[in-house]
Amino acid sequence: MAEVGGVKKFERSDNVIPDYDYLFDNTAPAKKRGKTRVLGKFLRLNRRPITATLLLYILQFSPTFAVPLLSAEIINLVTYSLAGGGAGRHEWTLLAIYVAVIAVLILQNVPSTVWRRRIMSKMLRRTSAGIKSSVVRKLQQLSITYHKDIETGRIQSKFLKDTDSVDTLFSQVVDSLLPNIIGVIVAVIISLYRSWVVSLFFLLVIPCNVLLSRVFRKRIGKSYRDYRLRTEDMSSRLTTMLEMIPVTKSHGLENIEIESVHRSIMNLTGSGRYMDETVAHFGAMSWVLNNILSALCLVFCAVLALLGRMPVGDIVLYQSLFSQISGYVSALINIAPQLASGNEALNSVSEIMNVSDVETNIGKKEVPAIEGAITFEHVSYRYPNTEQFVVRDFDLAVRPGECIAVVGPSGSGKSTIMNMIIGFLRPTEGALLVDGTPIGDYDLSGYRHHISVVPQNSILFSGTIRENITYGLSSYSEQQLAAAVEMANLEEFLRTLPDGLDTRIGEHGDKLSGGQKQRITIARALIRNPKILILDEATSALDNISEFHVQKAIASSIRGRTTFIVAHRLSTIRDADRIVVMDAGVAVEIGTYDELMAKKGKFYELKCLNDLNLKTAEEGLA
Ligand code: ADP
Repeated sequence: MAEVGGVKKFERSDNVIPDYDYLFDNTAPAKKRGKTRVLGKFLRLNRRPITATLLLYILQFSPTFAVPLLSAEIINLVTYSLAGGGAGRHEWTLLAIYVAVIAVLILQNVPSTVWRRRIMSKMLRRTSAGIKSSVVRKLQQLSITYHKDIETGRIQSKFLKDTDSVDTLFSQVVDSLLPNIIGVIVAVIISLYRSWVVSLFFLLVIPCNVLLSRVFRKRIGKSYRDYRLRTEDMSSRLTTMLEMIPVTKSHGLENIEIESVHRSIMNLTGSGRYMDETVAHFGAMSWVLNNILSALCLVFCAVLALLGRMPVGDIVLYQSLFSQISGYVSALINIAPQLASGNEALNSVSEIMNVSDVETNIGKKEVPAIEGAITFEHVSYRYPNTEQFVVRDFDLAVRPGECIAVVGPSGSGKSTIMNMIIGFLRPTEGALLVDGTPIGDYDLSGYRHHISVVPQNSILFSGTIRENITYGLSSYSEQQLAAAVEMANLEEFLRTLPDGLDTRIGEHGDKLSGGQKQRITIARALIRNPKILILDEATSALDNISEFHVQKAIASSIRGRTTFIVAHRLSTIRDADRIVVMDAGVAVEIGTYDELMAKKGKFYELKCLNDLNLKTAEEGLA
């Protein structure tokens, strides 16, 4: 550590975040998985620092054992000297030695405490960073289907609150659980050494306290689980509320939202109060139990001393040892609820870490470049845990550079097909080939470097237009950026902004119109110069002027790329090389715009319906 301006600066080796994925790795047999295993791995991984902290703990708290022992010796020395007619030179020397030992043991507490804390802090802080970064890595590896199924708020709660509670759990194990166990052992050894009868009495403390904790364990565990689930619930409710604010406000539904979040808050409050009460009840019972046992111990020792079986000084020793033992045991029992809460957090983090819905790309074929030929061979797809195929016997060979439009009613399987091309979903039956190779053989993460997707709802973050377009690029040239801006038909719009590309767009691009957002998303897709471009209903939510601009952007962006356009407005796909018409998961027609119109089949029907809807909508607006 170097000291900079009075603040200690930690060196690089202290700051390296360890890889803690293995703490949660899921390869063990199901029976052995779970929180105890994670804790066990943590202890094994850190056995050296933990041993060091425990040895330092014994040194740090040695006065609490040594002082009562020496006090008993001093009292016995004084009583014997007084009974023998006064203290001689030997007694005075002994007294001086006892006092000196007490002083040294007390003073060493400062360095041993600081040293122990330093080792512990390094170990725990590194673990905390390691777990957080493992969770983030896992979140990035999890499939898109998993992310669609779980609410963001729930993940945030797991990431922020639960990883902190796991840190607290580890710190309690190292800082309270293990030291208290050692305390009990040392105190029992000392008392065994002095008198086994009294030690037996001491040992009573353990079963009494364990019994008490057993009575409360289930209730406490349940109250913590309940509290954790309600916290996640509230967090996800809040995220939904924030996302829905524009809809809520425009429909005047504020009170309904307030009421709904209020219910979540009240549920959480009720659950928190039940948890607090359970813990308080338990704490009080444990305090009363240990004080009764302590009083009994005093009486027991006094009787032994009166019967002449114990020197008077030893009453002080045993009383002090007993209160230490009961202190340690009740501390152990009292941290049980906190350990239960930590275990619950560990469960929660393990829930994410153990999800197997991940993409493994290790050992797969690297993808330095692709041509862009996509072939579906009798592909059928069924979502996991569902009965019905949502895409059936889909057959299509797409040449590099071809533009394919996919149309069809909602729910006919268009997005499912797009998700298969991106590699998010694998065909349940049949094969999907990219440049003649089954898509599953590729390192999908590398393959996706050659794909760009323009989703239906533009996903922008608060930042500048430039940052949004170049998102995720480690380097780019101004020419590349200018070319993407031009193809996306953004130039004219940027000229109207005083800060141009460096204009901040507000959260999720709130300061922009739908068409402007869409064109920024298109520029983001194009700056990567993808071989495959997927436009998912890119113009469906736009007014006519915006649609005109976006349409122009699309027309100039598809050149030289294999393009898939999922289209809602059928007028926008006139120039596609081929149109695939989907109906209930089946490609019912494939052909050019003119061919399909001449055929007067499903596409023609859809087009007439589409024109009618548009006309009605326009008349409605007028
Ligand atoms: P489209 O894009 O044409 O509207 P989709 O491909 O999104 O159609 O959906 C096709 C069918 O698959 C629909 O019936 C839809 O309900 C179903 N579906 C979509 N996603 C899932 C999912 N994650 N789990 C189960 N069924 C799904």
